Amino acid sequence: MDTKQCPMCGEEIIAVAKKCKHCGEYFTNDGSALSVKAKSRLAFILLGLFFGGLGAHNAYIGRPIRGLIQVLLMISGVFMLFIGRIGFFYASIVWIAVPLWILLEICVITKDADGVPLR
Ligand SMILES: [Zn+2]
Repeated sequence: MDTKQCPMCGEEIIAVAKKCKHCGEYFTNDGSALSVKAKSRLAFILLGLFFGGLGAHNAYIGRPIRGLIQVLLMISGVFMLFIGRIGFFYASIVWIAVPLWILLEICVITKDADGVPLR
């Protein structure tokens, strides 16, 4: 099996390794170190808290579709308000559920869409 030298710690690792077993560094498909690319967990949390309803935190970690779904759900509540009582009921549920969903994401998500841990 081909090996290469880890650019971060210098230890020998398998050439196709996604993660160095010695220092924990992650690699992209072309083999370059990824720590430079690691996204900030603090930024993720702040984006979620202030712009979570816009899906900003999900866009940040590379999950734009999930973020878009959150945006559409939040916006759909506004339009549903115009159709009367059922719409109001719908909006109340969505506007409680989506923020809870976002809070949950803030608490449990520690990696971006590529599996790179946030730091
Ligand atoms: Zn290493």
